Amino acid sequence: MGISFSLDMSRLGKGAEEESGREEIIEKEIIIIGAGPAGLTAGLYAGRAQLKPLVLVGHSLGGQASTTSEMENYPGFPEGIGGMALAEQIAAQATRFDADIEYDEVTAVDLSVYPYIVKTYGTTYHAKALIICTGTSSRKLGVPGENKFVGKGVSFCATCDGFFYRDKTVVVVGGGDSALDEGMYLTRFAKEVIIVHRRDQLRASAILQRRAEANPKIRFVWNTVIEEVLGENAVTGVRVRNVKTNEESVIPTDGVFVYVGLTPNTQLFKGQLELTADGYIVTDKRQRTNVPGVFAAGDVQDPWFRQVVVAAGAGAAAAIEAERYLAEKAYEEAERKNKV
Ligand code: NAP
Repeated sequence: MGISFSLDMSRLGKGAEEESGREEIIEKEIIIIGAGPAGLTAGLYAGRAQLKPLVLVGHSLGGQASTTSEMENYPGFPEGIGGMALAEQIAAQATRFDADIEYDEVTAVDLSVYPYIVKTYGTTYHAKALIICTGTSSRKLGVPGENKFVGKGVSFCATCDGFFYRDKTVVVVGGGDSALDEGMYLTRFAKEVIIVHRRDQLRASAILQRRAEANPKIRFVWNTVIEEVLGENAVTGVRVRNVKTNEESVIPTDGVFVYVGLTPNTQLFKGQLELTADGYIVTDKRQRTNVPGVFAAGDVQDPWFRQVVVAAGAGAAAAIEAERYLAEKAYEEAERKNKV
């Protein structure tokens, strides 16, 4: 339910509200920012605790997990499950318990006032508790040609774009689980998948290494980095450099799939929450940040495991903690009123 009163917008920078001076504020007990496995599970738990949580989706449901073709290690699905299918199932479960899942991107937060302020493009919210589950984004290579061809030959999502490479050659960059997992997925379509890795040892788990090495459509190029993505109107190749010999060469390819790691989506919280040197949100074992009533869960605070099941568990824990925090706050407030 919307409640109208005036707000000092100087705290959140310029906006359309400046023109009117007044705007509608929506009051919420709890807002969950992000709708990957952590955010959706937090929504499910907070919903079941009858907090009527608002889950703000941002770009897309499911976060990084939604770009995973098939998860073999999420418990309860012996045959595996697609990342997006899992996200949709958790979202449906959360909605069953009155979680409100909205596609609206957060543009600013203010944690210096209470209740906390969360602004999206269309709305300003006040929240008594926040759970931040903004996850990570794919890291780019940062080489010439990469930006020019994003969505037109350079991709960060095999599940989304693999279909367009039927009987074509693709280069996959990286040596982690994602590069191998998604490289193997691409062999369903492509005639050849060339995995270019900057070292001569893979970071990926042993089971994925064994499978990728046994796949006849996969070829590895070791000790090699991409220097440029080549092409006029479409990708035609990559210029690469062997880091041992410094020798440069061109690998002809129709597409480049980049899996060189992840960066946390914490831009909104810089200067407001304690972050690690790499930009991850610092939490304690109970998912609490350094600001009371603000919790974080999932990859945005976990550079170690980065597994869907761990993120979902952390989302549940954060919601349980948030519920406790709100109950204590309500109790303190009642005590204070009784004394007056
Ligand atoms: P990651 O484990 O951080 O691996 C990134 C890879 O990219 C590494 O091999 C790294 O090389 C390479 N790299 C980094 N910067 C580079 C650059 N500028 N140029 C060239 N190569 C570069 O990332 P990820 O594979 O996306 O995995 C992220 C997390 O998700 C991990 O914890 C992973 O276990 C998890 N995950 C799990 C599964 C699964 O369980 N099935 C599937 C996907 C992802 P170095 O090795 O030399 O550092």
